[in-house]
Amino acid sequence: MKGNLLYEGKAKQVFMVTEDPDALILSYKNDATAFNGEKQAVFQGKGRYNNLISSAIFTYLQTNGIASHFKQQLNDTEQLVEKTTIIPLEVVVRNIAAGSITRRLGIPEKTAFTSPLLELYYKDDQLGDPIINDEHARLLTDATGTNLATIKQMALQVNEKLQPFFQQVGLALVDFKLEFGRNAQGEIVLADEISPDTCRLWDLTTGEKMDKDVFREDLGDLIEVYDAILQRLEAVK
Ligand code: ADP
Ligand code: UDP
Repeated sequence: MKGNLLYEGKAKQVFMVTEDPDALILSYKNDATAFNGEKQAVFQGKGRYNNLISSAIFTYLQTNGIASHFKQQLNDTEQLVEKTTIIPLEVVVRNIAAGSITRRLGIPEKTAFTSPLLELYYKDDQLGDPIINDEHARLLTDATGTNLATIKQMALQVNEKLQPFFQQVGLALVDFKLEFGRNAQGEIVLADEISPDTCRLWDLTTGEKMDKDVFREDLGDLIEVYDAILQRLEAVK
């Protein structure tokens, strides 16, 4: 049964589970935020899309050998996950240049990287999630050098699995953000969500942006786009 609210973030609420101290319920909200919370809006139905899409992606990853916190989708907006202690890192993998890297390094949008580019950011809203290197990560978190190697290897494996997954539904996986946590056994597991809020997805034929950039850049109807993503994923289930 759903227990106390443990945490409320920008996009989800996190609840305890009364009968299982090692589990959590993630409840997806309809809120969208961008630019570190500066831009905000509510979209009816968004929580359901993120929950369903993230559940489909974690299910696919698990059947393809990538262990994660995901246990099961409970209903339209909630999922049961393994409780972890989140390592405060945002692990970004990029296949094509877009977003912050175009501004920070002057790399033109759409530049394809010859091999995936992995970046670490420090998950701290007050600091605006600054980009950091491995030494900063070891200083600021309890992750060891070995833990960081594991996290990076897992992030690249997720990329290897997700690229063909999205390609089969006509989408290029441009970039994405992952979070990792430690479970009760001390193992590092993939956590949080993977959805069009946390990935950039471009239509392979038209180049259309089909992710949260629609909201960030005022490109159209976010819900229509998230609905299209879910429909494509359900068609290949
Ligand atoms: P934010 O905190 O960035 O505003 P959300 O609104 O998505 O993000 O809140 C969900 C929170 O739950 C995040 O802080 C995320 O790190 C955390 N979380 C996700 N999965 C787990 C998990 N398995 N165990 C513990 N915390 C988790
Ligand atoms: N991302 C995310 N949460 C964040 C920051 C980034 O999910 O707090 C995702 C983002 O959606 C994109 C990728 O990580 O798919 C790379 O984001 P980028 O660094 O380009 O930042 P942005 O342009 O989104 O500010």
